[in-house]
Formats: sequence, C-alpha cells, structure tokens
Amino acid sequence: MIEIDGSIGEGGGQILRTSLALSMCTGQPFVLTRIRAGRSKPGLMRQHLTCVNAATEVCGAQVHGAEMHSQTLSFVPGKLRSGNYSFNVGTAGSCTLVLQTVWPALLLAEAPSQLKLSGGTHNPMAPPFHFLERSYAPLMRKLGAQVELTLHRLGFYPAGGGEISATIWPADSSLEPFDLIERGAKLDAYAECFAPALHRTVAQRELEELGATLGWKEDQLRVARVRQNEGPGNALLATLAYNNVSEVFTQFGERGVNAEKVARNLAREVQGYQMGEAALGPHLADQWALPLALAVWQRQRPATFSATALTAHAKTNFEMIERFLPVRFASASLGHGWQVRIEPKALAVPVVAP
Ligand code: ATP
Repeated sequence: MIEIDGSIGEGGGQILRTSLALSMCTGQPFVLTRIRAGRSKPGLMRQHLTCVNAATEVCGAQVHGAEMHSQTLSFVPGKLRSGNYSFNVGTAGSCTLVLQTVWPALLLAEAPSQLKLSGGTHNPMAPPFHFLERSYAPLMRKLGAQVELTLHRLGFYPAGGGEISATIWPADSSLEPFDLIERGAKLDAYAECFAPALHRTVAQRELEELGATLGWKEDQLRVARVRQNEGPGNALLATLAYNNVSEVFTQFGERGVNAEKVARNLAREVQGYQMGEAALGPHLADQWALPLALAVWQRQRPATFSATALTAHAKTNFEMIERFLPVRFASASLGHGWQVRIEPKALAVPVVAP
C-alpha cells in the first residue's frame, strides 16, 4: 500500500488525481491522508469526488473515504474495464479534470471506451476543453493513443451544465515516448471569445484590446459560436499553433473586471510564452508529465521536454509520479526555461543543459 501525505508540495487536488490515475495503471493500492491540506477548504470537493467515483467505476476499485469533505481515502484498484461511461460532476466543477483522471487507464484497457462528461468545460484553474482538444490530445495521439473529443455544450462557473464526450482507444501495444524540445515552425495564431449569454460588445471589446496589444489582425480575432450553456460566462482564448505543439492560453471574464483588463491579462500570458523558446507552457508541462512518464516506463526509454516554467504544481506532480512509477525526473534550467528528462530508474544519469 503506497502511503501518501496529501499536504506535500502544493497540497492540492492534483495529488489525488495523479494517485488515482497511476494506481489504476499500475494496480498499486494507495492510502491518501490530509487530502488538499494546502487549500482553504481541504478534503474532497465535488470535482474530486467525481474523479474518485469515475476511477472506481473504471477499475472496480474497493474504496474507503469517498465522501464529500473526506480528508482520507484508501483505494485498492481492480481490473481495468473499457466501456460506456457517464460522469457528471453535478456542479460547475471541471469535467475535463475528471476526463484526465481516467484517460491514462483507459489507454491500457482491452477495448475502446466512450465517455460522456458533464459539469464545467471552461473553468479557471483547470484545463479548458479547447486546451485539451488542441494542446493535450495531439500530444497524446503522438504517443500512440488515439482519442476523439467533442464539445456539446459549454459549462461555466457557477451554473455548470456543460457537456463533452470522448472516445478513447487503447494504445496498440504500448505508448511510444518522444522528445519535445522545440516548438517547430509557427503555423497559426488566433483568439476567440466564448461568451454566448453575454452582450456581443463584451466579446468585441476583449478581442479588440487583445488584437491591439498583440498586433493581431481582424481575421485572427473571432467571436466563437457554441451552444448556449446554462448561465453566463466568458472565456477569452488565444491559440498559438506550431509544427510540434499548440498552446492555448485562457483568461476568464468576471463581474467587476472590465473586458479590456481580461484581454490585457491574456496578452501578458501570450507574450510570456512568445518571449521564450521552450515547447510547453506552464500548464501543459505539468499535465504532459504523467502520460510521458507512463510511456517511458512501458518502453524503458528516456524522453525529454522543454518548458517555459516549472511551477510548484508541476514539481509536486513529478514527485507524485515517482511514487507510483519506477522513473526519475531530472530538471535543468536553460536560463529562459527548463529542460525535463524522464528516465526509467535503472538508466538514471544526470541531465546536462545544452
Ligand atoms: P485544488 O488545487 O483546489 O485542489 P484542483 O483539484 O481543481 O484544485 P489543481 O490541483 O490546482 O486543481 O490542478 C489544476 C490543473 O489544471 C493543473 O494541471 C493545471 O495545469 C490545470 N490548469 C489550470 N489552469 C489552466 C489553464 N488556463 N489552461 C490549461 N490548464 C490549466
């Protein structure tokens, strides 16, 4: 039984999700104490509980402590089962985080799975659907893991009510690790505003300000038309597509924050990434670590990626992954970014910055 103290590092919900994902993939049981001790409202919130319940269903686990606000969870995984699943967060909690929890395990199942997920699709502090579709899923496919994602309805905080579906095919024999150091040639850059229940001028003001700050032309600025969610919401997205990777940056409008400020915040994020050369932005870097480590472990072959920043979130995640998989993370500063190498434990040698 792997014993994990949920207060380590960032002490957030990722410790739980990584434990669930890798427990399912490796068959190792775990007990997690002090769940989300680093947060103002510790314990399992609705999104985290939905992740636990989804993981339980996918592998027939034996679980104790799967209740709202619980701060201790024990999880003994069973056999992975492909199938048709429906997971509903029940609030505006992020359903993309639920998807990311069960995704790695379903790659190792015997047959394809169809998932329907409901809740928030575009939440602050979680990967928005379009980030999964454009940034994360293409890298997963490159590992040898086919997936199709569809957004049926947007879901924003606080109303929720969003819906997405995913078809996940198991990897052929095993995942194929690869290096991702350079972005490659620039292919496209554009911004979109998703604000279906708000007056159109909000979207126009955000896009105009973003365009003016980044020097983007009118055809790069789009008001997105997507089915109505159950309540108002406003997500401003910038997508930068390169040959080897695409990055999606997101800012959310909120009451009391004017449209121009939302745009300027997003412009700063985009400029931060444009100034660097590393392939992955801060969010993609922390999320890419788990599937890549899984591939490194399966193939017993190291792989490297570059990242513009290594957040506390990423470092905590690396530490968690090392608790479940016999791999080692080695990070080296490149001055303007980081290089992260994942090695099977037996091969571990120090990483040297070029
Ligand atoms: P808590 O920290 O309250 O327990 P949580 O379980 O919702 O919250 P975190 O542990 O903070 O979440 O993890 C959030 C995940 O969402 C991280 O992987 C982070 O990179 C990702 N994320 C946050 N914002 C974005 C964004 N704008 N784009 C892409 N991914 C994001």
